[in-house]
Amino acid sequence: MQPFMKPINELYSELEHPRNVVITFHQKPDADAMGAALGLYHFLIQFGHAVTVISPTNWAGFLSWMPGCKKVLDYEMQTAKATAALDNAQWLFCLDFNTMDRTRRMAEKLIALTCIKILIDHHHQPQVEMFDFGISDIKKSSTSEMVYDLIIGSGHADMINTSIADCLYAGVMTDTGSFRFTSTTASVHKMVADLKDHGLEHSHIHEELYDNFMESRFRFFGHVLLNRMEVFYEYNTALIAIPQADLIKFNVKTGDTEGLVNFPLGIHGIKLASVIIDRGDERKSSFRSKDGFDVNTFARKYFNGGGHFNAAGGKNIEPLDEVVRRFKIAIRENKEQLSNYKF
Ligand code: 5GP
Ligand code: MN
Repeated sequence: MQPFMKPINELYSELEHPRNVVITFHQKPDADAMGAALGLYHFLIQFGHAVTVISPTNWAGFLSWMPGCKKVLDYEMQTAKATAALDNAQWLFCLDFNTMDRTRRMAEKLIALTCIKILIDHHHQPQVEMFDFGISDIKKSSTSEMVYDLIIGSGHADMINTSIADCLYAGVMTDTGSFRFTSTTASVHKMVADLKDHGLEHSHIHEELYDNFMESRFRFFGHVLLNRMEVFYEYNTALIAIPQADLIKFNVKTGDTEGLVNFPLGIHGIKLASVIIDRGDERKSSFRSKDGFDVNTFARKYFNGGGHFNAAGGKNIEPLDEVVRRFKIAIRENKEQLSNYKF
């Protein structure tokens, strides 16, 4: 292990020597984590590497269309198989997370492994001392874009196929909020144009990701928007705090709450939107802001979390009421920045 990770391009010449490879990402993967991992999977297998993708936890049903998703191991459900793959790994790719604790119960196992560890990520303050090689760039729109950069940078543009194109598009499209966030650079659009040239069918992917939910998810959204949302106009802030009983009543599944936080953010005048959910074992929070407020710092300071400037999350062991109380104190302490927002 190096004190600081070496640049990832030092590995490019090694790509053509087949190895046992494991690719993993953060718990409860989003489309960027899963898309980047499967995009990389479909790239590496073309060199003859034996590649296993392991998710620390289960994932949302709306990711299951991704080519290769059915082969992904769930560490919590298939621990023996996943552990065997990790023990055999020569290279471990860690995608779309900055700190090992984002891999939940798998963190201890990953830290103990002595194989070569490679980070590809776009979050703030990565644990660089944990990795031998890697690239961390907070300016990148998505980890999927960074996997695309790796493919192009290593001189293998010709190996992009429809599977890679579909997976990477899903990641970059969702992590840029359908190309609306400021992270959507000209390079992002050029990448998508290139993926289109390699067989990408983008409308099909939007349907798979956004038009595939159960009725109960929308009933749940209606319920929480009507009954659980509080708007603090003095602080340009809105909060939806959800007790566990609501999740049970509406049969809420992994991934069903994704996107909910964008509703309060869409209210005129709202600068900070939050959803705090009692998941039973922990209280999970999501924060979103319109460009002037730094939710990465906010999540780090009050909610044991982090993320990006405009999208972050955290977790607490305290009961829901206590986390909500802490949220209200936090917005009061940030009144200056929240109130002087110019609309
Ligand atoms: P989401 O609200 O969609 O769960 O997460 C938004 C962003 O915050 C993502 O980039 C995610 O990686 C990050 N994030 C979410 N939860 C946590 C957390 O508990 N800890 C840290 N460090 N980052 C988080
Ligand atoms: Mn990401």
